[in-house]
Amino acid sequence: MANPEEHRHRRAGRGDGDACAALARLSLEVSACRACPRLVAWRERVAVEKRAAYADEDYWGRPVPGFGDPAARLLVLGLAPAAHGGNRTGRIFTGDRSGDWLYAALHRAGYANQPTSVAVGDGLELTGAWVTAGVRCAPPDNKPTPAERDRCVANWLVPEGDLLRDLRVVMALGQFAWDVAWSRFGPGRGAAPRPRFGHGAEASLAGPERPSGRGAGPERPSERGAGPERPSGPAWLLGSYHVSQQNTFTKKLTEPMLDAVLARARELTGAGTDRHAAR
Ligand code: SF4
Repeated sequence: MANPEEHRHRRAGRGDGDACAALARLSLEVSACRACPRLVAWRERVAVEKRAAYADEDYWGRPVPGFGDPAARLLVLGLAPAAHGGNRTGRIFTGDRSGDWLYAALHRAGYANQPTSVAVGDGLELTGAWVTAGVRCAPPDNKPTPAERDRCVANWLVPEGDLLRDLRVVMALGQFAWDVAWSRFGPGRGAAPRPRFGHGAEASLAGPERPSGRGAGPERPSERGAGPERPSGPAWLLGSYHVSQQNTFTKKLTEPMLDAVLARARELTGAGTDRHAAR
């Protein structure tokens, strides 16, 4: 199957060149990660056994990197790739109902050029937004262990966040992502008391001891030569119920509810001029 990396950073010229190249290298590195034996076994087993509806497809079966605009002001953070979604297609939130919901909303909000996300190479592009997950491998029952979560955040979300230099807002989809976002981007790297998650919840990520980022995580090859330290990180954390089928089918999460959080994100990023609709 096609390597998702061929498509992922087509728009890399929009941001800082060194950081874009480092993001591309990071995507390649994460795609090869085998640090969690349980998750490696699961993602590869799913890729072999497959769901009947996709029996003729080649599954990606590897970690799924982040996707979007290297100059993003908004980071959308999920839990992990779906076994037959991102783990099949190789792009985060792509090829399943959750992705249908998320990218349709991002399109309505002006962050995506199309409302659908079916497969790598489908023409989807994001402007002003980057979509990623706290854990990059599909976990059994969507439940990574705390050790797997912490390892993946340290290995991949830390450097990824450092390379996305224009971030202003993190939108966490669900409690898991909220906790991860706070530990990664919160004051003192989450040392401050964690605010309560809820749909529409807002928390300031600013603090007197905001870390510069790169020095606090393990140095990776991708980080070297990526330019000067980022002066600041995202300032706001927004909560949204996850776009899972369980939430959307039961109407715990509706389109207007999701749109409202993205509208608030747009307000906080102040990036109204990069709307696709305005181009
Ligand atoms: S969950 Fe993250 S750290 Fe663990 S194997 Fe997958 S990519 Fe690597």
